[in-house]
Amino acid sequence: MRTAGTAYARWIQAEPRGNIFAKLPPGADQRGSIEMSIAIAAPGNGEVSGLLDFDAVVIGAGVAGLYQLHKLRELGLRVRVFEAASGVGGTWYWNRYPGARFDSESWTYGYSFSKELLEEWNWSEHFAPQPETERYLNHVADKFDLRRDIQFDTRVVAAHYREDTRSWDIALGDGGHVSARFLITAIGILSAPTMPNIPGIGTFEGRSHHTHDWPKEGVDFAGKRVAIIGTGATAVQTIQEIAKSVGHLTVFQRTPNWCAPLNNGKISKDEMDGIRARYPDILALCRETPGCYIHSTDPRATMDATPEERIAFWEKLYASPGFGIWQGNFSDMLTDRAANALASEFIANKIRQRVHDPVVAEKLIPRNHGFGTRRVPLETRYYEVFNQPNVELVDVNETPIESVTRGGIQTSAREYPFDIIVYATGFDAISGAFDRIDIRGTGGTRLKDVWANGPQTYLGVFVAGFPNLLMTMGPHAGLGNYTRTAEYSVEWVSGVIHHATERGLTRIEATPAGVGEWTDYVLALGQGQLMNEIGSWMTGVNRNVEGKQVPRIMRYSGGHPAYRAHCDAIAAAGYRQLALA
Ligand code: NAP
Repeated sequence: MRTAGTAYARWIQAEPRGNIFAKLPPGADQRGSIEMSIAIAAPGNGEVSGLLDFDAVVIGAGVAGLYQLHKLRELGLRVRVFEAASGVGGTWYWNRYPGARFDSESWTYGYSFSKELLEEWNWSEHFAPQPETERYLNHVADKFDLRRDIQFDTRVVAAHYREDTRSWDIALGDGGHVSARFLITAIGILSAPTMPNIPGIGTFEGRSHHTHDWPKEGVDFAGKRVAIIGTGATAVQTIQEIAKSVGHLTVFQRTPNWCAPLNNGKISKDEMDGIRARYPDILALCRETPGCYIHSTDPRATMDATPEERIAFWEKLYASPGFGIWQGNFSDMLTDRAANALASEFIANKIRQRVHDPVVAEKLIPRNHGFGTRRVPLETRYYEVFNQPNVELVDVNETPIESVTRGGIQTSAREYPFDIIVYATGFDAISGAFDRIDIRGTGGTRLKDVWANGPQTYLGVFVAGFPNLLMTMGPHAGLGNYTRTAEYSVEWVSGVIHHATERGLTRIEATPAGVGEWTDYVLALGQGQLMNEIGSWMTGVNRNVEGKQVPRIMRYSGGHPAYRAHCDAIAAAGYRQLALA
């Protein structure tokens, strides 16, 4: 940390104050060529290294950030992690709303880098609740003694690259500044929560909470008049949980989602022992599947099966735990409209069977997108909640919310009185967490401006013009089962840093050509995927955020094994090979 009297302080004070972020030197000494996707500069100013506060700064102490710290320590680097929260866990720290839990099998979600960790941890449910996951990540932080290099309650507000020192100046929310050779973002893809733009939100006199920013002490819903806005995966989990105790619940729905049963269950000791014994196979299976889950698509096309075979197949998936019905469905379900329509009809009929009031059932059936084209919320008796006499569904397309009042919510039809309002209104996903930080590269270029029309990255890791900035789980990277994919991302990032540091190299950057090719490739790959045609967080749409109204291709959609093959080839070629030869 920069403190008066250190060599760094003397060096930086040679700069006029206020100059650090205001007057960046021109983007001199940019090496790289059309043939190279990543430009790694020759040793030049390594003498500055000792004057920098850290070799690497990592933003975020969630699943990716914790492992990133561990890996960089193994390389012998001086690392500091800055974390806005008071504890570790990222998503699993913040999202402590009632009912928060995994949708991926617990035993596929843990880190795999430590056999000892795998051996010693017991998951209690196939889809663990948030407190258990938070406990797990705290256990990891303790086991690997990570906390001593994490500064909590500290948000990174700005990061500006300096060409003269080939380093990042990083400004913190508490007014502090640090410098580091490498800046690594581990800021997650769903970490910038958004509130709806409804007039009067601040005037409400009851309690109100966004699900992402849930109070640690919890909220007592017993007997209360509760509103929830939103019907995404978070809302679904919250609704089915709080419906057990509320006095009255009103669900404000704009777009219904296609939900399917989670089919969760406890894990007995014997079962956990069996899982432990099968870890090598489980992890190998996750490596093979496109999303790094245990589920992979059925090779058959929908129409290859007879109507009876299709129904039997879907019934089996509907009764099975987890994402099988989404990730393990017919191979053409997410590319062929007719196939998708059949799968959608199957789920629609399930909703009709489960919801008693046919008018309510029809309102809960999505009309503007097919099954699986948005992220499928997994549920436990979600649809049955709407059979409760104390639960009401309000379609805000019919009666729009006009304002939040002191006592409740005013729609075009009437005012609803509430004690508690829950905002399950989602996130400015994937690039939103980057937009919140004033990140500037060579010549003072703002990352937010570079990405104004969508992300442009090389492998989802680098951005041209932003040397020594490395993103874990960045836009246009291979995403999926979070820990599985984050582990790979961290290892790849650590590999390239190791490559540079062991050679005394001080500047790593993607070339514009490399970024252009990767971006074009990802965009081309995403064509024809029904998921990329509909607005959702997966296509970067958030109607509450200016400039994020149109679906874009935000994720690499070639499957994680193919993504790894690209990245592995680049590493094997000494980081000098085009990804898309
Ligand atoms: P989301 O899917 O983006 O849902 C936000 C909801 O709020 C949508 O229903 C949206 O409606 C609604 N909304 C936003 N602004 C509104 C407004 N002004 N008026 C009315 N409705 C409004 O966000 P999320 O539910 O938090 O889930 C995001 C992702 O987090 C999930 O898809 C999943 O990947 C992850 N997640 C994971 C787990 C897990 O692993 N178990 C659990 C929860 C979430 P529109 O659709 O009309 O915009």
